[in-house]
Amino acid sequence: MSALSSFPISRRGVLAAASVTLAGSAFPAFGWSASRKQENISVDDPVAKYPKPSFQKQSQPFPGLAGKMNPRPDHGETTYKGSGRLAGMKALITGGDSGMGRAAAIAYAREGADVAINYLPDEEPDAKEVIALIEKEGRKGVALPGDLRDAAFCEKLVEDAANALGGLDILVNNAGRQQQAQSIGDITYEAFDATMKTNIYATFLVTKAALKHLKPGSSIIQTTSEQAYDPSENLVDYAMTKAAVMNFTKSMAKQLAPKGIRVNGVAPGPIWTPLQVSGGATMEKLEKFGGDTPMGRPGQPVELASIYVQLADPQASYATGQIYGAAGGGGQP
Ligand code: NAD
Ligand code: MG
Repeated sequence: MSALSSFPISRRGVLAAASVTLAGSAFPAFGWSASRKQENISVDDPVAKYPKPSFQKQSQPFPGLAGKMNPRPDHGETTYKGSGRLAGMKALITGGDSGMGRAAAIAYAREGADVAINYLPDEEPDAKEVIALIEKEGRKGVALPGDLRDAAFCEKLVEDAANALGGLDILVNNAGRQQQAQSIGDITYEAFDATMKTNIYATFLVTKAALKHLKPGSSIIQTTSEQAYDPSENLVDYAMTKAAVMNFTKSMAKQLAPKGIRVNGVAPGPIWTPLQVSGGATMEKLEKFGGDTPMGRPGQPVELASIYVQLADPQASYATGQIYGAAGGGGQP
């Protein structure tokens, strides 16, 4: 027996096996993690590990459900492993039912935190799954549905979360509205207003309300976007809000550093989430989604989970006012 054949499987063999699993599975993201476990390999190839375009045509009414996407996004349900980095902490995550917010919620629970999630009432089926996953970790999961465009609700949300959790250490302002429009003439006053209220006003109001509860060692994390730095021609109103949120992160970091509260942001590139299939992208862009990145594929929400953990981890005590990008080799910062 040669030295090579004494290994159970070669690295190339593992990759070939992985791509067969990817192609053949209805839920390719989970297929990969299963094959990885079987072969007991420790390093994932980031290019091969998740689905590439082309994607099937699909659309859902806003806000969309992760549970109805094909392929289903990987939020870390079976793939994220925790190590107690946020033990005993209490987090509120807006848009915690799906996408990056859900990935952060699952990861936070596996890192030992109790988690409250906000979402729109239409998203109850996604939210139920997240609460069940949090509770499966033995953590407290609190469901707080409601519309962040309502200023009074923003304040009530924070109070309800702090009451239910017994305090607040981490705030993730992640909810967002993105509706693509080819021309500025197609963006109605009402649509513009809804995007501003969801993405900017709610971020401002929820942060302001949360400061009553956040103590030294707490942190605030915003989901901004590569759109803050390199806006697309059909995301005019949305990209404005993401630039504003990036800027807010930096001013608030300066204001809150002396109080021991850190403020950071995450700037994702194209990530496979309901936002994109419910009016966020054209069908043409969706079919090729993420194909124009150097990795040639979109990101999955779980691939950003560890970033939300890192920014919340008290061990990252000198990091504030930072924007952490994750865009498959493109995007900024
Ligand atoms: P998503 O659809 O899973 O999450 C967005 C969430 O926003 C929804 O689940 C919904 O609960 C919430 N939301 C929207 N309007 C709301 C309202 N009025 N009241 C309460 N909640 C409301 O999609 P996602 O891509 O995970 O989005 C999360 C964040 O990531 C957003 O801020 C988005 O702008 C940002 N982002 C996404 C991408 C991407 O490619 N998917 C890229 C960059 C940034
Ligand atoms: Mg959702």
